[in-house]
Parts: sequence; structure tokens; C-alpha cells
Amino acid sequence: MNASTAATTNADAAARARAVIPGGVNSPVRAFGSVGGTPLSIVAARGARVTDVTGRDYVDLVASWGPALLGHAHPEVVAAVQEAASRGLSFGASTPGETELAELVIDRLTVGGTAGIEKLRLVSTGTEATMTAIRVARGATGRDVIVKFAGHYHGHSDGLLAESGSGIATLGLPGSAGVPADIAALTLVLPYNDRDAVRAAFEAHPGRIAAIITEAAGANAGVLAPEPGFNDFLLQTAHAHGALLILDEVLTGFRVGAAGWWGLERAAGATWVPDLVTFGKVIGGGMPLAGIGGRAELLDLLAPLGPVYQAGTLSGNPLAVAAGIATLRLADTEVYARVDAAASVVSKALDEALTDAGVAHVISRAGSLFSVAFRNGPVRDYTDARDQEAWRYPAFFHAMLDAGVSLPPSVFEAWFLTAAHDDDALGRVLAALPAAARAAASASPA
Ligand code: PMP
Repeated sequence: MNASTAATTNADAAARARAVIPGGVNSPVRAFGSVGGTPLSIVAARGARVTDVTGRDYVDLVASWGPALLGHAHPEVVAAVQEAASRGLSFGASTPGETELAELVIDRLTVGGTAGIEKLRLVSTGTEATMTAIRVARGATGRDVIVKFAGHYHGHSDGLLAESGSGIATLGLPGSAGVPADIAALTLVLPYNDRDAVRAAFEAHPGRIAAIITEAAGANAGVLAPEPGFNDFLLQTAHAHGALLILDEVLTGFRVGAAGWWGLERAAGATWVPDLVTFGKVIGGGMPLAGIGGRAELLDLLAPLGPVYQAGTLSGNPLAVAAGIATLRLADTEVYARVDAAASVVSKALDEALTDAGVAHVISRAGSLFSVAFRNGPVRDYTDARDQEAWRYPAFFHAMLDAGVSLPPSVFEAWFLTAAHDDDALGRVLAALPAAARAAASASPA
């Protein structure tokens, strides 16, 4: 046994990690800070299941926070990565695979003859994708101010952490230390789904706003679906004031449907087309890969054609690209139908279990994404999301974990289903829910 597998309990693994890694984690929510207890140390994942360092397996509803649309370690994706690895890990030069992936993504984002994007630049993380999209928007408009929504998460770049979702929401932070005030001042944070606030921001800052960045459907403060027509309104309002709309599909892209959230809106009759779109997660099928897409005139502002600089040693990494191509090729309508159906089964059972246990709750859904909030009434914005009995979640979470179901370790995260969640896996989730709901019912505030 080598050093990395020597730990025999999750507690041992966590203690050893904490000695050399801040908080024992390389991304904060993994530390179980808001649910307490010992974080899992995972050694393997296959299909709908993950295996911890003790050899125990869990039905997984984290799915690597989204990428594992097909389930973990899909054999064809793993084979594609192995084949790519046999030809070399990184070249620092262009590859045919990058072009193939860009063609594939542009093709999928062409809905009813309308191109959602014309070009795509690949990077390694969603953070880089949104950071670069903002730089392109500023370069294109010659303006500095960015509008974002409270509770939306766009990665951890300086300007985007204000009132952000995901770990910032989980930890209850207003933003991050280490962000210069001058940079934070360039971000206007507005309440989500609030048209008046958007209009007022443009009126208050004439000629200064470069772009609105929005999650295509909010999913980082729990699920916050856009009200019908809200994304279209954002695009029209931005354009009326000479600004751009950046649609962040890092989480929703290729997960809620073949053409992401935008594709769902198009299918429902919308006609708007975003200026810039960011992708991550599913685009790399579990490998570090992300992208910025948009109209050619905007993407061609990037170096080497234009003055907006962006680069990356590992950008378009051949292993990541191979995983992305294999994943997108496999993600057909049947996959999306399976993921949608699995989400319906689990969200319905969750609703019933909490109702039976007498726990006030609301389930928010956006496509196959859903989350629970312990409150009465819908969740429209970040204020609503925080106005809940979040203290019920740790008991609920741990009851599920004890029963062998791994949920996101924060009430502010969406639950992720995959095409590998078969009847067996779903049965285990459904069997665990009633006791977890009762645990939530008998929880008390700290
Ligand atoms: N945008 C959205 C909508 C996200 O959900 C995330 C990550 N959860 C990011 C950007 C950042 O992506 P990454 O973690 O790959 O940097």
C-alpha cells in the first residue's frame, strides 16, 4: 500500500490532509463546514457511486459538482482519455481534438438554425472562463463596471466574489478578503429576478456598465430559476445601454439539456441570443476544461487576433479535450431524458418525505437541477434563499450519509443526478429519505 492509500478512516485521512493542505481541502465546501462531521476522502467513483477510503460506497448526488452527467468513469470516456494519454499528456501546441470539440460545441449550440455561439476559446476552469468573458466584454465596450446578481457564483476571480453563491454562501461571507476595494467597486451586485433593480443600475451608471453576467439559471445558492423572460430582459436592457450579456452556463451547460439552459429557453420559444457564454464542468466530462463562446467579432478580440490577452499552458489539454468530446458525443437526448426522470423521482420523494415529516420546505427546480430550502414560499432571490431554517440541513445530510447517500454538503447547492442513477441507486436514495426527513424535523437551531 502506498502512502496515499495508507489512511484507513475518513477521520485519519482528514487529519493528515489538514496538516499539509489548508482546511484539508482544495475547495472549501468539501470540508463539511456547514454540515459538521468528517469529510469523506474518496478513492474511486463509478457510475452513480463513490467509494471512500474505508471501502464504503455511497450513492452520489454530487457528481463532482456537475461534470459527471453520464455517471462517474463512463467506460467510453475513460477509454478516450487513456487513448489520448498514450499519445502524450500535453503538447503546448494546437491539436485536432480542440477543433473537433469547438465544432461539436458550436453545433450543439445551434438551435433551430440560430447559432448561440460562433467561436469558442478553451481554458481549464470555469473561473478562467468567466474572468476572460468579462475581459472581452470590457475590451469590446471600453467600459469597466460589471453587473452580477447576489447568490450567483461565477468562480473565484477578484471581481466576482461579492455576495457570491457556492462556498461564499455556505460560509456566510459577504465576499472575500484580499479583493482590493477598487476592484470590488467595479462590480454592482443586484437582487436576482428584479427588473427594476437592473433598470435602476443602468440609469445610475450611464455609459459605465460593460456587461451583465448571470447564471443562465441560478444554481449556487440553491436553485434560483430565472423568472420567465428574465434572461431575455437582461439582454435587451444591456443592449439598450450599449452593454453585453454574459450567460454563465458553466453549471447548466450540457447538463440541463444538449444546448444548456439557453437551449431550453429556445425550445420554449425564446428568440434572444447571448453575447458571450461560458462553459465548464460537463464540457470536460470530469477533466479540467472550460470555455468562452460567443459571436466571432467578440471572440476575435482575444489574442493573437485582438488586444484582449488570455493564455494558458494547459488550455485545451488533450486528455481533457478527449474526455469532453467523448462525453458530449454520448450525451444524447436519451441521456437527458434519464437525468430529468431521475431528478423528478428524487425531488418528488424528497417533497413527500419532508411533507410527511411536517417540515416546512420548498423545492426549487431548473431543468434537472433542484434543491431544497427549509422555508415556506418560493425562492426568488438570495434574500429568500438565506431566509430559511438552514440548521435543519446538517441532520438531514448526515442521516442520508449514514444510509449510504452522499448529498452536497451544503443546503446552498443543487443536487446532481446522472444518467447512471438506475433503479437500484434511486431506490437507495428513496429508502433513505423518510428517516432523513424525520431527522430534519427533530433538529433544533444551534
Ligand atoms: N460559474 C458557475 C455558474 C459555477 O457553478 C462555477 C463552479 N461551481 C463556476 C463558474 C466556476 O467554475 P470552476 O469551479 O471550474 O472555476
